[in-house]
Amino acid sequence: MKIGVLALQGAVREHANSLMNCGVEPVEIRYSEQLSEIQGLIIPGGESTTVGKLLIKYKMLEPIAKMGQNGFPIFGTCTGLILLAKEIIGSVQPRLGLMDINVERNAFGRQIASFEQDIPIPELGPEPFHAVFIRAPYITKGGEEVRILARLEEKILFARQKNLLAAAFHPELTKDLRIHQYFIEMCSK
Ligand code: GLN
Repeated sequence: MKIGVLALQGAVREHANSLMNCGVEPVEIRYSEQLSEIQGLIIPGGESTTVGKLLIKYKMLEPIAKMGQNGFPIFGTCTGLILLAKEIIGSVQPRLGLMDINVERNAFGRQIASFEQDIPIPELGPEPFHAVFIRAPYITKGGEEVRILARLEEKILFARQKNLLAAAFHPELTKDLRIHQYFIEMCSK
């Protein structure tokens, strides 16, 4: 199986390594023509306003949005989560707008721009997941079709809507492959 990692900006290599460690072939996606080679797409962390503009420049915003609407599996981490959201609070920046979620950017404040925390994700088993947050967003609200997979108090950190998966943190920066494996399973169906 081949899974794409959007390679316009951000933590591309780390996701590619996690996929390889799961026995899947990563494809770094830079052009829309490559989208037909893959069975799923990861949108890595970076800076969402920049990646949104680059998606338009490289003519991939609409093709990826269409694929997502048609059931193609997409996993967004951090910036990827922001780009998947229909509503980005206080922002009109370009986005795919596929997931029925409201997202607050840089939501943990300046003082705690980056931090790590073990969070429970019952869907992945009893062992908590060591989550790395970097100027992270969180989901404030999800629609009826959105399944919340992890949260800290009222902050939603990991969620799924059918073929779409979104994490506020960076699973590619840890050795724990459970989230990548979970996404690979979504891609093999
Ligand atoms: N704060 C960034 C944004 O708004 C996201 C940070 C990240 O992807 N680590 O795009």
